[in-house]
Amino acid sequence: MRTKLIALLICELIFWNCLNQSTILAQERASQIRESRSKNFVMRSDLSAEESQELLKRLETMLDLVSKYWGKKNAGIIEMYVVKDLSVWSPDMMPANAWQSVSTGGGLTITQKRSLGRVWQAKAVVYAIADRGTPQHEAVHAYCGQAFGSTGPVWYSEGMAEIGKYWAGPDDKTVHCDPYVIKYLKTSPYKPLQELVDRDQFTGDSWQNYAWRWTLCHLLGFNENYSQRFKPLGLALMSEQPRISFAAVYGTMAKEIEFEHKMFVENMDVGYRVDLCSWDWRTKFQPLRGSRASSVKIKADHGWQASRLEVTAGERYSYSTNGEWTLEEDGEEFTADGNDTGDGRLIGVIFNDYELTKPFELGTDGTFEAECDGKLYVRCREDWSKIADNEGTITLKLQAAR
Ligand SMILES: [Zn+2]
Repeated sequence: MRTKLIALLICELIFWNCLNQSTILAQERASQIRESRSKNFVMRSDLSAEESQELLKRLETMLDLVSKYWGKKNAGIIEMYVVKDLSVWSPDMMPANAWQSVSTGGGLTITQKRSLGRVWQAKAVVYAIADRGTPQHEAVHAYCGQAFGSTGPVWYSEGMAEIGKYWAGPDDKTVHCDPYVIKYLKTSPYKPLQELVDRDQFTGDSWQNYAWRWTLCHLLGFNENYSQRFKPLGLALMSEQPRISFAAVYGTMAKEIEFEHKMFVENMDVGYRVDLCSWDWRTKFQPLRGSRASSVKIKADHGWQASRLEVTAGERYSYSTNGEWTLEEDGEEFTADGNDTGDGRLIGVIFNDYELTKPFELGTDGTFEAECDGKLYVRCREDWSKIADNEGTITLKLQAAR
């Protein structure tokens, strides 16, 4: 799963010669390889006619999504070689590095860019095995290379290709990645941001590194705190604008991003929504003054939400709630005590210097003692991956306990 840019015309001519010959050879030696076409793709593959059509349909849907996302049409037909059974193919049918990639179960996109002064034109050819979303992943590289001339630094290029692979629709912000990827991410040591965006990375290193890059792009792309800056950053990176980098755009928010990124990896599952779990960095918090109560509305379908209350270690607070929420669309209504399995209960956590305490139970009313100084955040308890269909809000009132 690599991207390569060759900027010389001479390479292109030699390359095309090889390809033409190998295509003839392919037809003579392997009648199983068929050519299928769609609006944006020409695909040579040993997939059945039906499978080829199905893949082309998925590729067109994906291309439509990514070109709308980046706001630029596909710049020319994308040529794809998709390998189902390697024994049908031979090494002379593709460049050596492409053969190397597909024979080890991956893919390679070769984009050739011709420049004349400021004017350039790029043409991408994809080589991919037929499974694990590799054709979609590579097709994102091909689109980016052709439309923008480059696919950006490794973390962006590979992270976005993974997003394209999983994307289900224009407004889709849900995690759909393979369960084995989630299992790997949740059980392996956390990879710091700095390491993820390091410039010395190379493509095609490992699926594990691809998974980490995906987590960062998914978070920045869909979390409401960061998504607005993410698309312009990507466009600038792909068009190789000078002085543009992750650090230039997000450097001042690095601590916040790392905090949310950690939380995302820790809590993620298929169905997780980074947008609904965006951390509230804006709301002002303050300690209680005298007998005054603070009141705030808490949504059932969001992650941790600001209570506005700044707590002091060892102090006791009393709380009361009003309202009901549901754990599914039009579902049964529960108070902040939740149901008998404990879901739907109002719970709290204290944020202090980018660290969270263990969550603790609240409910319809009662008191609690703050275990440390910090900001109180609360939410409706349910599996993180299942909160999106929750409905309703509960009003929470907080006061100093008498
Ligand atoms: Zn790739």
